[in-house]
Amino acid sequence: MRGDGRYDVVVVGGGHAGTEAALAAARAGAEVLLLTHNLDTVGQMSCNPAIGGIGKGHLVREIDALGGLMARAADRAGIQFRILNARKGPAVQATRAQCDRTLYRLAVRRALETAPRVALLQQAVEDLVVAGGAVRGVVTALGLRFEAAAVVLTAGTFLGGRIHVGLAQRPGGRAGDPPAEALARRLRELPLRVGRLKTGTPPRIARASIDFDRLEVQPGDEPVPVFSFLGRPEEHPPQVPCHITWTTAETHRIVRGALHRSPLYTGRIEGVGPRYCPSIEDKVVRFPQRERHQVFLEPEGLDSGEIYPNGISTSLPFDAQVALVRSIPGLERAHLTRPGYAIEYDYFDPRDLHPWLESRHLPGLFLAGQVNGTTGYEEAAAQGLVAGVNAARRARELEPWWPRRDEAYMGVLVDDLVTRGVTEPYRMFTSRAEYRLRLREDNADLRLTPAGRALGLVDDARWAAFEARREALERERARLRATILPPAALAAAGIEAPPGQGLSLEALLRRPGWDYRRVTALPGAGPAVADPALARQVEIEVKYEGYLRRQEAEAERLRRHETLRLPPDLDYAAVAGLSNEVREVLARARPATLGQAARTPGVTPAAVALLLVHLRARG
Ligand code: FAD
Repeated sequence: MRGDGRYDVVVVGGGHAGTEAALAAARAGAEVLLLTHNLDTVGQMSCNPAIGGIGKGHLVREIDALGGLMARAADRAGIQFRILNARKGPAVQATRAQCDRTLYRLAVRRALETAPRVALLQQAVEDLVVAGGAVRGVVTALGLRFEAAAVVLTAGTFLGGRIHVGLAQRPGGRAGDPPAEALARRLRELPLRVGRLKTGTPPRIARASIDFDRLEVQPGDEPVPVFSFLGRPEEHPPQVPCHITWTTAETHRIVRGALHRSPLYTGRIEGVGPRYCPSIEDKVVRFPQRERHQVFLEPEGLDSGEIYPNGISTSLPFDAQVALVRSIPGLERAHLTRPGYAIEYDYFDPRDLHPWLESRHLPGLFLAGQVNGTTGYEEAAAQGLVAGVNAARRARELEPWWPRRDEAYMGVLVDDLVTRGVTEPYRMFTSRAEYRLRLREDNADLRLTPAGRALGLVDDARWAAFEARREALERERARLRATILPPAALAAAGIEAPPGQGLSLEALLRRPGWDYRRVTALPGAGPAVADPALARQVEIEVKYEGYLRRQEAEAERLRRHETLRLPPDLDYAAVAGLSNEVREVLARARPATLGQAARTPGVTPAAVALLLVHLRARG
């Protein structure tokens, strides 16, 4: 630690947002102090021990492409890897890693401890130093004062956190951790719009009390996938299967019978929960026609005696939790090691943020993660990276940077948050992106690593690996285009072609039913690339070239609007033709670009056209 208590960037919180923020800020050249309640819980997964999944896996690959940590940590902690949607189109395929909770935490801690320019300190932050209308540092519970050009707040579910199990409730940041009450009170005094959200987690079950013989086994994929562009399967710990079971009519009867003791259904919880990650209470009430719901039994770790039952998040009283779990096949003798619970917490309206995640009202304060109304480790980590790099850029008086919607899911995420805000915990889905085919997991490096290099986030080793991969991809594409199978070879292989004409390997690969392996196995096709990920990418780029070109053209057209900056002091009353309602909406939202203005709820395409005319007239 530096003696004078001055840093370029102070990060509050050692969760998924805070750790990526600290690492990104340091890589971008800042001296960083990360303050967190407990150094032993740095990188802790508060809920399910898994990274990735549809939409989320895309974010993880993007974080990796920008030199971030999450994919590297998942490769070191992943005990089961699967590619979800493997039979669907390439845009929606996504990697998911079941992780060993302890190994994941250790990988994160080690990365922070070995990163240059990052200092760690176990301290609760209780106050922000505000001077001249800007945030200039923090004060901890011990009264230590740290000054910084930028503070990144990533306090997760801890601000004003209340834990509910049945009708009992108590303050808590998550099970086993105290909430951050003093900081929450202080933040409520500042010009930030605050709301309440809630999330929940299932009970945990003793592994030894489960009858695995009666359950369906779910193995991981073979060959075992990797998450990081730099990852190797040899880095993975031993791989283990998960198991699947189902709720029963009896489970649903128990849930219905306990609803009068549910904090959700008796109005004790005011915060809005994640619609897409519902509790078992919500599932039973909202889908009464469903006879059963799937439950994945996921190991908490290689050496852990606990199992995470994914799909039965609940805040019913403990006796009802025991009964409902025991009504599930294979779990009749289950012993619950930890109760499930719901947690309510403060979040800040993300429409008060710039797209680089700095507060519009308190310069120098960056917010990332669950405090912005999102849910999920991946969403938190992605925001942490954006906030961290921009906090470092602020400290160095550089222009902010943020990814565009057509460039990254991270761009979709920050744009959705700052233009639309949230009405429930926000999670990423591929359906949120307009350009899904461009924003694939496999090409996250092509989309983002050059930007990461320019921002100082990508080190020499990653850059060299990226350049080698990019060149290999281009070489193989050129080879497929240039390699022409002559008519005789085509006839010998029984391939239809116009009489007397040869066909390139590329043309063959575009044909329905043909894949890279089949094309390159033809006599005369030459040597195929050995790396299956590269082969897959070549195949996607060739097969979908037409669609990709069309998306690129459309994105280019929109980009011209997207990047047109709106002056922060723009007088919307002076824009001719706008309705008073739209003027008010825009004056309140103060979008940074014309693209953002177009996506602000209540702003019509006609209003955007009028704005464009106004901007052109201003020159
Ligand atoms: P966190 O991971 O919560 O980290 C916050 C960090 O800040 C902690 O290290 C904390 O100690 C520290 N901190 C807080 N206040 C202070 C302070 N004043 N001073 C110093 N340090 C401080 N996500 C899903 O995707 N699916 C789920 O089903 C799901 N269920 C969840 C269930 C529960 C019960 C909880 C608690 C979370 C759940 N989540 C779920 C959310 C997921 O855990 C979070 O989205 C993710 O961890 C957010 O990361 P974060 O970095 O924003 O915050």
